[in-house]
Amino acid sequence: MSEKRLRQAIDTLKESGVRITPQRHAVLEYLLTSMVHPTADEIYKALESKFPNMSVATVYNNLRVLREVGLVRELTYGDASSRFDCNTTEHYHIICNECGKIVDFQYPSLHEVESLAEQVTGFNVSHHRLEIYGTCDDCKHVATAKH
Ligand SMILES: [Zn+2]
Ligand SMILES: [Zn+2]
Repeated sequence: MSEKRLRQAIDTLKESGVRITPQRHAVLEYLLTSMVHPTADEIYKALESKFPNMSVATVYNNLRVLREVGLVRELTYGDASSRFDCNTTEHYHIICNECGKIVDFQYPSLHEVESLAEQVTGFNVSHHRLEIYGTCDDCKHVATAKH
């Protein structure tokens, strides 16, 4: 499944006239296969051994290009580093309070909230974000093991 998505993503890049460098390919592949929401630093560390000459700036640059063609979404959380999401379908996130892990889940998109917000405030709504917080399965087990 991720291989199919990778091929589709490569096609999107080609159609947009974006050059596919080996690093760009690797960043994209990592995002599509890891299914986590990594920071640029995490991507850099994961690919460091494969591309010893690559810098964090290169990773950022590649992520920017992927974002511009709509293959990657950037998630910002206050002062923390941005996280990158290659799941561009509509979905919501649940975030672990302990380890910061972000997991996707599907839920019918709350379009009513957007239209209500528009009606009430007169804004042109562009999108909304909804995050659920809790303790992930791994951290739950760590917590119980301590007691
Ligand atoms: Zn956790
Ligand atoms: Zn996501």
